Amino acid sequence: MSKRPPRPPRDGVVSNGRALRPARSAGAARPSRDPAHRPAGVEAGEPGSFASQWGWDRPFEVYDDFDLPSYVGPSTFSNLPWITDPAELERRRVDVAIVGAPFDDMVTHRPGARFGPRAIREAQNSSGSLNSLQVDVRPFEELTVVDAGDANIVPARFDRGHAMIFRKVREVAATGAIPIVFGGDHSITWPSASAVAEVRRPGSIGIVHFDAHADTAPDSFGQLAGHGSPMRRLIESGAVPGRNFVQIGLRGYWPPVEVLDWMREHGLRWHLMTEIEERGAEAVIDDAITEALDGPDAIYLSVDIDVVDPGSAPGTGTPEPGGMLPRELLRAVRRIVGQVELAGMDIVEVSPPYDWAELTAMIANRCALEAISALAVKHRDGRDVRYAAQAPRTRAAARA
Ligand code: MN
Ligand code: MN
Repeated sequence: MSKRPPRPPRDGVVSNGRALRPARSAGAARPSRDPAHRPAGVEAGEPGSFASQWGWDRPFEVYDDFDLPSYVGPSTFSNLPWITDPAELERRRVDVAIVGAPFDDMVTHRPGARFGPRAIREAQNSSGSLNSLQVDVRPFEELTVVDAGDANIVPARFDRGHAMIFRKVREVAATGAIPIVFGGDHSITWPSASAVAEVRRPGSIGIVHFDAHADTAPDSFGQLAGHGSPMRRLIESGAVPGRNFVQIGLRGYWPPVEVLDWMREHGLRWHLMTEIEERGAEAVIDDAITEALDGPDAIYLSVDIDVVDPGSAPGTGTPEPGGMLPRELLRAVRRIVGQVELAGMDIVEVSPPYDWAELTAMIANRCALEAISALAVKHRDGRDVRYAAQAPRTRAAARA
């Protein structure tokens, strides 16, 4: 029996029996069954005839940008408003602001992290008002969260790039909003955490740092601003005291012994991946939280996505086999943000050209969502998560 060609649409029904037109709402005028239905006086093919012929002039629902599917419209984080003006961030009393740092001039191996912020923003399949199953909260109902846009980056100008990241993060943090910065290579933590420390008080914040690498090199091939050195620069400048540094997930063959000696001299505390293997992530994160709270007023959380095993997070610049599970990292982010005062956060080293099926970008996206949800729980429980900046102390006030 020969196969019949599909019949063209007729009477609003296609050959498989599905209605060509969606169901009409009750009470709507019944459209004509005549395919040539058109307003009187309009001939077929004339302007004005198609909409009424096919029902395209019927009232359909229109969605806000926020409620549209995540693949429609501008790719802001979670379809949230794109607000770059600090005065507007202040007016809205924004709690959390996403900041992009699309910068990878400082990598020592695979490049591509400059495409990270856009990929992290896009790696989400849900939109609108979300509900966290993990912590039972609706983060965007509880908090005012916006996407504050990107630092003003151009290629091959690393000093300018770091300056622009510093200014952007300082501008956002000065409004009282908590910046969550999407890198970018890990060098961006130097300007970003410096900006947060400056807005609060240099030396007043600690850093919890997830990474396969300690990033405390004196330099990389002579480059002081490289992505292997940001933590050294922060400690040397006094932005963050060495003893308020807690590192989690280190493994592999870096740093060398002389760098470990420098870290010991400066009081850094770190938890190797082998410790997580032996004691479990839960016990190690507990210790890290205790150490993080020992001294500083607030914590800046820096997540190098290469802390996750490259089997789960292949899209990164310097992958190191034998890392954490995504679920261990996401749980750790929720627990840390839930227990310390969060001053700022970054999620770095996502390199989309080396990613596969958006796996790495998705984990980064979820790190941000989990942090926001943990902040939302605090807010629901009656705590303000914004930073209430101290009024600048005048000399007279300081003497009083
Ligand atoms: Mn790093
Ligand atoms: Mn790393």
